[in-house]
Amino acid sequence: MEKEIAEIRNAIRDIPNFPKPGIIFKDITPLLGNGPLFRKTIDVLADRYRNQSVDMVLGIESRGFIIGSALAYRLGAGFCIVRKPGKLPYETHRASYELEYGSDTLEVHRDALRPRARVLIADDLIATGGTAAAAIELVSKLGGEVVECAFVIELAFLKGREKLKPCGVYSILQYDSE
Ligand code: AMP
Repeated sequence: MEKEIAEIRNAIRDIPNFPKPGIIFKDITPLLGNGPLFRKTIDVLADRYRNQSVDMVLGIESRGFIIGSALAYRLGAGFCIVRKPGKLPYETHRASYELEYGSDTLEVHRDALRPRARVLIADDLIATGGTAAAAIELVSKLGGEVVECAFVIELAFLKGREKLKPCGVYSILQYDSE
């Protein structure tokens, strides 16, 4: 497992000053482009949740769709999409969250979950935790129960997991500084 995690870490590329100065963007496209490693990444997550009776994986637009849908397939769970405003065709619930400058909003279909569904929230990366916190709010509006929030990458120095309490957080890779 340690060897696999080191391989996954080595496949992630740092892009300084993207999308704006001062941000180091963690680019997962080299990881996604490596078939055996992409599969290992999904399998590390699937092994953790295999016996957790996950009904639905919720993926956050857009890289959460890539990780989340592969994970849902592996778990035999349904997949629920959470998108930026104006993209979903049916009636929605909304949740807003603060960004460094301004705020952003996420939407989910009102019929996306059955009541008390066990939901695993998935995204590629947790930074400040604002995005995942909004997803948790949407699950709660729909009457679902969050099993955990799962990420490939955690920027641990930003302490995003504290914003998600009491929901638990799991990440394959942690970065303690930029
Ligand atoms: P946050 O709401 O601050 O936890 O930000 C998480 C969302 O923004 C995720 O959907 C990530 O894909 C994206 N994100 C934030 N920071 C980075 C980063 N340094 N590299 C890549 N993606 C990021």
